[in-house]
Amino acid sequence: MAAQDTSTTPETLASNQRSIEALLELIAPRQTFLVTSHARPDGDALGSALGLMHLLDGMGKQVTVSFDDPIPAIYSWLPGVDRIQRNLATAPDAAIVLECDRVERTGFELQAFTAMQPGLTINIDHHLSGRPFADFNWIDPQACAVGAMIYDLAVASGAKLTPAIATCLYTAVLTDTGAFTYPSTVASTFALAEHLVESGADPSAIARKIYSSNRAAKIRALSVALANMRIENGVAWAWITVEQMEQTGAVVEDCEGIVNYLIGIAEVEVAVFFRELEADPAHGSAAGQFRLSLRSKGKVDVAEVAARFGGGGHRDASGCTVEGPLETAVGRLMAELCELGVY
Ligand code: 5GP
Repeated sequence: MAAQDTSTTPETLASNQRSIEALLELIAPRQTFLVTSHARPDGDALGSALGLMHLLDGMGKQVTVSFDDPIPAIYSWLPGVDRIQRNLATAPDAAIVLECDRVERTGFELQAFTAMQPGLTINIDHHLSGRPFADFNWIDPQACAVGAMIYDLAVASGAKLTPAIATCLYTAVLTDTGAFTYPSTVASTFALAEHLVESGADPSAIARKIYSSNRAAKIRALSVALANMRIENGVAWAWITVEQMEQTGAVVEDCEGIVNYLIGIAEVEVAVFFRELEADPAHGSAAGQFRLSLRSKGKVDVAEVAARFGGGGHRDASGCTVEGPLETAVGRLMAELCELGVY
């Protein structure tokens, strides 16, 4: 049976059309733009930001793309990635924040963001936990990726989809749909993918660069994490400590996706990966905290679980930070799952 294409319900379509028209009107008279997305950027954060950058370039705008965190090696080939800078712009006419529920999720301090004095702040997000924190907010939780929203914006603007735009947006959609496997993957996702491929995205080359270019350290970290795995009552969890990361030579981006192995187990409904954080006072993390990646097969809303710890995300994929030590973090998580009747 075909997946229900909820993204094309008349209400969603009409609301998106209104947002896109309003957004194009806001963009037209402005000249300088900052584009940013969330900390520890993933394929959607980078692909949608760079896709939007190329789109705005084509409109003759001046665009700065800033990320607070380094760019993971598997995305270092994205067209335009060399233009990404670590610091914010100066007084852009508009700052466009992608995939974030608040400015701080970018990793940049709110104070630094405000001091940049953006003429207007624009929020484009597709998370269930999205919030209207900006002057203009376009939040569509039915969109499979923010990259798909930028695609709709590009098409509505009448812009030519260059191979650079197509490659960036295809990467966003490919990664945020779990390679076209999450429930957000509907008929229109493939129509969009088809158009992007026709416009110059190379599906096989992109998939190889993202999924078959892992560092050996990532696989070593994976083996350590999986050796730490526990399964109880349909919940699987695993962890890696700072010391184990050092021993394997893994860096933060190497932990991306480990949780997917846990949710891939037949009897598991909820999977959680705990990564111990190094103390990072500049970003407000103390030693002994754990970063959690949560996944669900659909029965449990893990966005709600993450929200209980100040995080967020989607029904099937979310994240948050929890105080350690590990036993305490696991205990607190299980208590919340218990309260939701899961564990
Ligand atoms: P991941 O486990 O891959 O880091 O994140 C899964 C999903 O949850 C992604 O869509 C990500 O943007 C979102 N997410 C992860 N951590 C947080 C967080 O701290 N706050 C919010 N609002 N969303 C998060």
